[in-house]
Amino acid sequence: MTTRAPAIAAHDLIKTYPGDVKALDGMGITVEAGTVFGLLGPNGAGKSTTVKILTTLARPDSGSAVVAGHDALRHPDRVRRAIGVVAQKSGADPVATGRDNLLLQGRLYGVRGAALTRRVDELLDRFDLADAAKRTVRTYSGGMQRRLDVALGLVHRPEVLFLDEPTTGLDPEARSAMWEEIARLKGDEGLTILLTTHYLEEADRLAEHIAIVDRGRVVAEGTPDELKGQLRGDAVQVELREPVGPVEAQLLETALAEFAGVREAVLDGVRLSARADDGPAAVPHILAVLEREGAAVASVTVARPSLDDVYLRHAGRRFAEADTTLVTAGGAR
Ligand code: ADP
Repeated sequence: MTTRAPAIAAHDLIKTYPGDVKALDGMGITVEAGTVFGLLGPNGAGKSTTVKILTTLARPDSGSAVVAGHDALRHPDRVRRAIGVVAQKSGADPVATGRDNLLLQGRLYGVRGAALTRRVDELLDRFDLADAAKRTVRTYSGGMQRRLDVALGLVHRPEVLFLDEPTTGLDPEARSAMWEEIARLKGDEGLTILLTTHYLEEADRLAEHIAIVDRGRVVAEGTPDELKGQLRGDAVQVELREPVGPVEAQLLETALAEFAGVREAVLDGVRLSARADDGPAAVPHILAVLEREGAAVASVTVARPSLDDVYLRHAGRRFAEADTTLVTAGGAR
């Protein structure tokens, strides 16, 4: 359909940090121009390291990265001019006004005069910051600061915009406002967006194409629907009253798999995740096996496959459980 070259083409990226931490282990993505591409993975998966390499802030040990038609390793300066970066940490100066931040950013990229003022006004309007334009940024709410960060990334009209975990730390209201902003950016002619996130829902809502990253490489990719479509059948989730040890879990998984309608039963602690051609029909069988084995059930749900199920299938564990921050922050979800 499209004859334009990909906006991002990265292959076989390896990156090792001191202490033998393999942050990237064969990472590769191809992002079509004019699309929103989501890099989805738990904390520590390697998303930020990938973004650092693509935005020329880090070099891989090996592999290749072409961004907006320029080789990120050989011509980092050309790549920098063609991209906008919204990092996890705000780059805005807290003691300057929102407007001055935008003007300064524009000048850094060589935008000047009337063109710059026009662009800054347009962005202040678009990100609903016009009323706050003359206030210092430190008086902004978290959501306003984040919107300013995105505006800063857009001043020089980049071809590719990198959004690194754009809604991390925002309250639910500011998060959904930011989702609306990003969805509107999709409409911008030609703009390609690479979004990293550890929120399944965020990737599902915003990205046309998703690469699921685990331990430094892509374990699955496709449109959200394609990824979910790979998992035929229903997802049956059973929550047990007591956690089950690994040996017992294995026995239960084997017993459950004997029923023809059940596939991929995985028991992890108190949570049993199974796939079934016909979810409702499989529930009585699953409950009977659990009862026979003495595992008391707290709840049962049957649902269409989610991205969490896709992740489980490819990474062998639940998304939230792989996410060290979420787990230490008080239990997975
Ligand atoms: P994500 O963005 O998906 O959370 P990162 O790319 O930040 O993942 O991290 C990937 C792995 O590399 C993690 O194990 C992380 O601890 C490690 N890592 C990232 N940056 C550094 C660094 N500067 N020094 C050492 N290890 C790092």
